[in-house]
Amino acid sequence: MTTPGLLGAVEIREIAARIGVNPTKKLGQNFVVDANTCRRIVKSADVQPTDIALEIGPGLGSLTLALLESAREVIAIEIDTRLAEELPITAANHGFDISKLTIINQDAMHEIELPQPPTVLVANLPYNVSVPVLLGLLEKVPSLRSGVVMVQSEVAERLAAKPGTKNYGSPSAKAAWWADVELAGSVARSIFWPIPNVDSSLVRFTRHQPPADEATRQLTFSIIDASFAQRRKMLRGALSEICGGNSEASDVVTSAGIDPTARGEELLLSDFLAIAHALRNRLTA
Ligand code: SAM
Repeated sequence: MTTPGLLGAVEIREIAARIGVNPTKKLGQNFVVDANTCRRIVKSADVQPTDIALEIGPGLGSLTLALLESAREVIAIEIDTRLAEELPITAANHGFDISKLTIINQDAMHEIELPQPPTVLVANLPYNVSVPVLLGLLEKVPSLRSGVVMVQSEVAERLAAKPGTKNYGSPSAKAAWWADVELAGSVARSIFWPIPNVDSSLVRFTRHQPPADEATRQLTFSIIDASFAQRRKMLRGALSEICGGNSEASDVVTSAGIDPTARGEELLLSDFLAIAHALRNRLTA
């Protein structure tokens, strides 16, 4: 039977029961049971009829159906086989053209061959892997020009944090390599089934030109990782191993125009990049 429109709370539970899905924490399975929230997310992502949307973790399809309403095509990557198999049935039952929907039953943390380059990412990300999945997609899928993802509020704040704030860290500095990242609103716990014990927020990203080439990015990211490995360490200590000693680290950081007694949390992405350039100059001198 065809039921036009999006999924509602009763149907979501009914489908889960029928296919034997008991939501698990391990896979971050908190399903959105509110159609208005799904439309709000798609609107916030500014999905256009020309877009190919990528969704990670479509679950029972709440957001997927909202994407099918707006995008030209939807590519959905779902790790749980029962959910991946049921999704086209749900979409067809709701009157959607399933030739617009490609479902890939795979772990989004692995290398994925996409049928075509997606233009926009819209996802309620599985919480336990949200940061690596997002950073991985920014790195490996350059066709993604923008997106809105729902993540744990704490993670959202870290992704969008600016230097000198308590939430600033490696995810903030790394995400800034590829994109402008901003908070895009919070989401009530009551719209999930089951209700999670953490708050959720939306994060919007808009891709920009990366500031340097891939080899420089890798070196810059190693410097970011070392700088935040022990948050309270000064740069000269934190970068000692990567630079070959404390005094070498001091020299490298100083020649990048940065105080070696500063801490990673004070540095802009452009500062980490300047340190990478200084380190490379030293290594190739
Ligand atoms: N999009 C749905 C919604 O909003 O109702 C479900 C979101 S739920 C927070 C996360 C989804 O990601 C679940 O369907 C889960 O099975 C799936 N998932 C978890 N880990 C995954 C992974 N590594 N790769 C792909 N999907 C994953």
